[in-house]
Amino acid sequence: MSWQVGEVKITRIVELYDFTDNISMTMPDATAEEVIAMKWLHPHYATPEGLQRMNFQGFVVQTPARNIVVDSCIGAGRERDFDVFCDLPEGFLEDLESLGISRHDVDTVLCTHLHFDHVGWNTYKDPETGEYKPTFPNAKYLFGEKEYKAWQEVIRHDGHHSDNHLVECVDPIVELGLAEFIDANHTIAPGITTEPSHGHTPGHVHVCIESKGERAVITGDLMHHPMQCAMPHRHATFDLDKDSGKATRIGFVEKYRDSGVVVIGAHFFDPTAGHIETGADGETWFHGLGL
Ligand SMILES: [Zn+2]
Repeated sequence: MSWQVGEVKITRIVELYDFTDNISMTMPDATAEEVIAMKWLHPHYATPEGLQRMNFQGFVVQTPARNIVVDSCIGAGRERDFDVFCDLPEGFLEDLESLGISRHDVDTVLCTHLHFDHVGWNTYKDPETGEYKPTFPNAKYLFGEKEYKAWQEVIRHDGHHSDNHLVECVDPIVELGLAEFIDANHTIAPGITTEPSHGHTPGHVHVCIESKGERAVITGDLMHHPMQCAMPHRHATFDLDKDSGKATRIGFVEKYRDSGVVVIGAHFFDPTAGHIETGADGETWFHGLGL
């Protein structure tokens, strides 16, 4: 699935499709009854039983001059805390190649934050040596300086978070000198910028794309499910700092509601892109493209 924004083409690469779970995975206080009652979530973003539907996916941003990967997803053959994320097949690179891009053609990788499902394909495991090598050897890997420092100095040692994914997918990149530590407000390419959206993690950023007067934004994990457009004030389960995550989400929804900007949700199921709009009843909702 691709979206054209002026001269920029954005394509999602899905690694885990239509993952369903209780809405409390996203918002601890939300209930299946609330999901069932929110009509616009059905059938695309929720099941009739009130489970949320979501994807785990990354994005390729192609400009006439650049091939940028935004969030490199989970990775193949990994061992992670939950079975569903373990031993995934190798489809990511094939999907990339179907766009006419080999892994050698990617010039930039941007990780919105350093959770395991946003850094996975930064590296691959060499079958001969067992070493983790850069998947995109010609790319600069952009990590938020604040984000990297927070994981390095605190989170990976806090006893609550496994750092396997850093050992496999971030440390080798840093050791090889392929990492660039960026300010939260960073220009990746003309018209492609990051902005701070801290809260989910300490240095989380989202990505803004502007070309020929058209605009889109890739959310990262400042939200996980379209329902959060309607209730940005609810705490989010995986936000490390719940109050600042909430403030970020409220600001984001206010900024983009009725703006015409295409919002691409990092974990949104089909349609992954849409507009945050005010409905006839005055309530905010997410209007998936094509619906
Ligand atoms: Zn995520």
